[in-house]
Amino acid sequence: PAMSPSSHHGGAHGWDASGAPTPMHKRLDGKVAIVTGGARGIGEAIVRLFVKHGAKVVIADIDEAAGEALAASLGPHVAFVRCDVSVEEDVERAVDRAVSRHGRLDVFCNNAGILGRQTRAAKSILSFDAGEFDRVLRVNALGTALGMKHAGRAMVSRRCGSIVSVASVAGVLGGLGPHAYTASKHAIVGLTKNAACELGAHGIRVNCVSPFGVATPMLINAWRQGHDASAADDADADIDLDIAVPSDQEVEKMEEVVRSLATLKGSTLRPRDIAEAVLFLASDDSRYVSGHNLVVDGGVTTSRNLIG
Ligand code: NAD
Repeated sequence: PAMSPSSHHGGAHGWDASGAPTPMHKRLDGKVAIVTGGARGIGEAIVRLFVKHGAKVVIADIDEAAGEALAASLGPHVAFVRCDVSVEEDVERAVDRAVSRHGRLDVFCNNAGILGRQTRAAKSILSFDAGEFDRVLRVNALGTALGMKHAGRAMVSRRCGSIVSVASVAGVLGGLGPHAYTASKHAIVGLTKNAACELGAHGIRVNCVSPFGVATPMLINAWRQGHDASAADDADADIDLDIAVPSDQEVEKMEEVVRSLATLKGSTLRPRDIAEAVLFLASDDSRYVSGHNLVVDGGVTTSRNLIG
């Protein structure tokens, strides 16, 4: 008989004897994953989807309250560790925690990221602040590199593993974010290619996902400031100020803006859509994909819609 999909996937579950998919294909069954920035937004959606697909997950985030609460709500296979991805010891500790608790690490998702200050002065190449530039690069670019370093070290001995980072459409096109953010996201796409070259020799895959606008606290903070003239000029306005739960109205408005730019009409980009792309790259379903940047943007980067 013809090779069944399960034998093709090295014995993964999800297909019955006739080759038909079973109702719930748990694509990370028994695997151990770390998700940075997993306490809210896109990271939270990734954590939830990973758990649904049978993974044991460690949430690594600076937001202890939200991270602990999410972990507690998802049961015994989810733990929280306080981790600032720009601090090497923190990243190392998060990896150690997953390995000591579960014996190994299969998936590392570099999702934590910050947008940086949104004031007009801060956003201009003619007046940006070097300290703020450094802060954004430390979290987004160095944080991602540190994740690759320590996840890679934990994975090499087993000769397998998948590292998936969340870059951005701002890592592909210019003009979509502050300079430091754009630079940091281009850095993630570059790091992904470089690390894939090196770690491929050890059987480890390295990829990234580039979302367009998703109505998370990050984007709604930015949008609020863009629509608040006083905030836009206030040198002290802080983009990182927390909106744990944006209002439904703000989410709807934001989604409307994103929909108007997407080429693909009739649906809305949600955190879950980004999580599905990350899941694909994390799981063995993408076993021969490495060094890739999977853009999830409703066709924006391949259309002229952004320039109207
Ligand atoms: P968010 O601000 O809603 O959530 C980010 C999470 O990361 C929070 O839980 C926060 O506590 C955590 N975090 C921030 N700094 C950290 C640090 N130093 N160490 C550990 N955790 C930290 O943002 P989001 O929209 O969910 O963004 C997630 C990722 O997706 C980011 O890398 C972002 O750049 C990227 N992204 C978002 C969009 C979008 O439209 N929302 C688009 C493209 C890319």
